[in-house]
Amino acid sequence: MQTKNMIAVEVICHHCHTKTTGWKDADGVTKMQCKKCGTVTVSKPMSRRHVQIDVYMPKKAMLAVNN
Ligand SMILES: [Zn+2]
Repeated sequence: MQTKNMIAVEVICHHCHTKTTGWKDADGVTKMQCKKCGTVTVSKPMSRRHVQIDVYMPKKAMLAVNN
């Protein structure tokens, strides 16, 4: 991942809730990969009140949802 012109931000993994470092670019898009479980999270601001968060869990991970 290129980190040129990016700002380091503290983020929490959506899968295992471990605190880790993400990288925010000039457009406000934040990308992070969890050091503990390997989950990749991409957060994009869509409008002033809407942020889209995509969570890509590792292959062996199970969703923590019961339905
Ligand atoms: Zn994690």
